[in-house]
Amino acid sequence: MDLSNRLNDPALFKTQSYINGEWVGGDASFAVDNPANRQTLAEVSDVGEAGAKAAVTAAAEGFRVWRKTSPFERTRVLLKWLELIQEHTDDLATLITAEMGKPWREAKGEIAYGAGFVEWSAHEAARIHGETLPVPAPGARGWTIRQPVGVVSCITPWNFPAAMITRKAAPALAAGCSLVIKPAPETPLTALALAELADRAGFPKGTFNVICGDAAKLGPVMTGSPDVRMIGFTGSTEVGKLLMRQAADGIKRVALELGGNAPFIVMDDADLDAAATGVAQAKFRSGGQTCVSPNRIIVQDSVADAFIERLEAKISAVKAGDGFDTESDIGPLIHDEAVERVDALVKQAVSGGARIVVGGQPLADELGGSFYAPTLIDGGSFDLEIARSEIFGPVASVYRAKDEEQILGLANDTPYGLAAYLYTRDMGRVHRMSEGLDYGMIGVNAPMVGSASTPFGGVKESGIGREGGKWGVEEFTELKYVLLAGVNS
Ligand code: ADP
Repeated sequence: MDLSNRLNDPALFKTQSYINGEWVGGDASFAVDNPANRQTLAEVSDVGEAGAKAAVTAAAEGFRVWRKTSPFERTRVLLKWLELIQEHTDDLATLITAEMGKPWREAKGEIAYGAGFVEWSAHEAARIHGETLPVPAPGARGWTIRQPVGVVSCITPWNFPAAMITRKAAPALAAGCSLVIKPAPETPLTALALAELADRAGFPKGTFNVICGDAAKLGPVMTGSPDVRMIGFTGSTEVGKLLMRQAADGIKRVALELGGNAPFIVMDDADLDAAATGVAQAKFRSGGQTCVSPNRIIVQDSVADAFIERLEAKISAVKAGDGFDTESDIGPLIHDEAVERVDALVKQAVSGGARIVVGGQPLADELGGSFYAPTLIDGGSFDLEIARSEIFGPVASVYRAKDEEQILGLANDTPYGLAAYLYTRDMGRVHRMSEGLDYGMIGVNAPMVGSASTPFGGVKESGIGREGGKWGVEEFTELKYVLLAGVNS
């Protein structure tokens, strides 16, 4: 597939890193493949350790300029970036679908979602302020100011190639920070297109850098350089822990959005049709490759059969196919190893006593890419690996449980704590259970929890910090206290 011919604005097709306002190549390169047909889309330059160092130096210089801009100026540049992103929605969505596989209309939804963070943060820039404080000494004055943290390294995953960047970059820029962004090697093209639009928006040189290459070489510079003051990361818990260890040496701030094992709880008083629709919406977004994807669908015994019947009807209708085909509801998984991993989880569940209701096999041969069938599994035990690890694929796995107390115990029996979903019409249950669930976000009768205005993030091994709303911007600021000794005593 020749992507440059598919874009309305071919200048968005970049294969070099963006450092200090310039496009920079490297000695090595890596291939970016389309998971729907395994064709190579581009060879992207790997800028290596030297490129990472150059980007951090540029960001340190960029920070000195950007931090002094007025909030009004930051708002203006961010709104320009927003306008350009919105204008280029179709092209950005094309890059997402090509390199990551999700259906094109869903990719457009990701651009709208991601743009929301730019819009919200642009306006939030003007609302960053301190407070005047009462202090004990007569005549003295105390106040706080909020200042940008400094250079921020952002490391992002492939499942939301645009939104995971804007969700970090926009609030950081609003606060006055500068950035070195490293996208996932699977999805650098969307990130580089966003850099091109940032260039056109007019961020000062060095404020916004995007580097591509081998994580093992770029990562240590991005976490270890004394110029970097914060690491913002979305990805696996394993890599999150590694980055946190690397950050510990310099006592750098971390904001980590890691893995999940989301329970989707359906109580006996729930609207079962709404719950089945909710599972289908949340489960098949990005082909099940999201950290908030329902991983354990826990249904109260008495309604389990009726619920599974409804879910079977929904999942049977989900069609896998190339994301550029308008009939496709889900695209491929990110690569063949992901298909093998998901298939192994399903096979193991079946040998452990679970029953496949729909799907349950790879579709790679039929469809010629990294596809897995939309799948529904019934009757698994909570000890199965599929219940304990993040599935990250289009497999809905239903479990049965007795009552509120048992369900809460099972739901919380995991090291993760990102998103949970609760379907019930009983207000007492809403309060008891949402307070009892050890999760950072709870969707009550709501299958989508994220938005630009609200706090996104997890507890336990699902992460630290929040993205979105005023909290997302606050993460990128330091609180400073100033005491002025008594002047009139
Ligand atoms: P996934 O398994 O979904 O790809 P990862 O946590 O491995 O999730 O990847 C998320 C991001 O972290 C990607 O940009 C990846 O390149 C990056 N990454 C992986 N390993 C490291 C590392 N050792 N140092 C820095 N970044 C890393």
